[in-house]
Amino acid sequence: MRALRLPGWKSEPELVEVAEPTPGPGQVVVKIGAAGACHSDLHLMHDFEAGAVPWNPPFTLGHENAGWVHALGDGVTGLEVGQPVAVYGPWGCGTCARCRVGVDPYCENPAGAPVPGGGGGLGLDGGMADYLLVPDARHIVPLPAGLDPVQAAPLTDAGLTPYHAIRRSWPKLGPTSTAVVIGVGGLGHVGVQILKATTAARVIAVDTREEALRLAEECGADLALRSGAETAQEIRKVTGGRGADVIVDCVGADATLALGVAAARTVGDLTIVGIGGGTLPVGFFSVPYEVSIQTTYWGSRPELIEVLELGARGMIHPKATTFALEDAMTAYRKMADGTLEGRAVVVP
Ligand SMILES: [Zn+2]
Ligand SMILES: [Zn+2]
Repeated sequence: MRALRLPGWKSEPELVEVAEPTPGPGQVVVKIGAAGACHSDLHLMHDFEAGAVPWNPPFTLGHENAGWVHALGDGVTGLEVGQPVAVYGPWGCGTCARCRVGVDPYCENPAGAPVPGGGGGLGLDGGMADYLLVPDARHIVPLPAGLDPVQAAPLTDAGLTPYHAIRRSWPKLGPTSTAVVIGVGGLGHVGVQILKATTAARVIAVDTREEALRLAEECGADLALRSGAETAQEIRKVTGGRGADVIVDCVGADATLALGVAAARTVGDLTIVGIGGGTLPVGFFSVPYEVSIQTTYWGSRPELIEVLELGARGMIHPKATTFALEDAMTAYRKMADGTLEGRAVVVP
């Protein structure tokens, strides 16, 4: 079968022929219907080096995967060959306190996981291939009726990650509240939709790119602001001076974090989703009173079920641009130069 493999750190992926996987006991092989291309894959190719994460190349890229059950290992029950499924991406040990409640990204026994702190496309072979070996059937989530793999694949990360980030702030997102999404890329455009679908907040989207602001408006943003020196003041102005109750920063750079704090209302939430690597001084006088600043990483298995339900009911709809597996590098190049709209999805 074909697979888009990352041969080493600081290298370009290569499309190569590899052996088709066979499932061991308790495992599942999925025929890939769609694999999302994530901005974090660019960091894997260009920025990471040995020691940055607890695993190393070579492996097949692709950590947003959906398709159809292809083969079941011994002992797997409750799934049928041909059934459409999504793959829950973070693969923890399955037995620690976090994994038991479906929060594999925060697995506390990484030595007991298939790969410590990773998953398919993150240390182990991912879904930019014809088939994907899923090491435990518990990572398979059947697709609700009406959701196809091209829509489902981006929901497993570009949907799940902002959903998890927004869900924690639901109590602060009543009808008089304002939410700000910074960065309207793969995650941010779904984040805008999730806010509109699950809360009554007014939604403001912020980006540096004109096309991204148009996409935000298509996704239901009430206001789309070109990011600049005045952005925080503009947000304060349209919120009667109060500031935004919830800020979801899908970039995570120094400048966007500073904007988040400058635009935050007292008792607000600032959630750092993007892995831009920025930092923020936090102290008694540097942030508004009782602002909660939190990172989040990916989401839980129960939340994935909820996100897929929103997708199946048409309440969220990732803007997917499809590419053949042979053209996956074109997708990444467009992502790198900022000309990709929404999410790139590779269909092998
Ligand atoms: Zn990702
Ligand atoms: Zn665990």
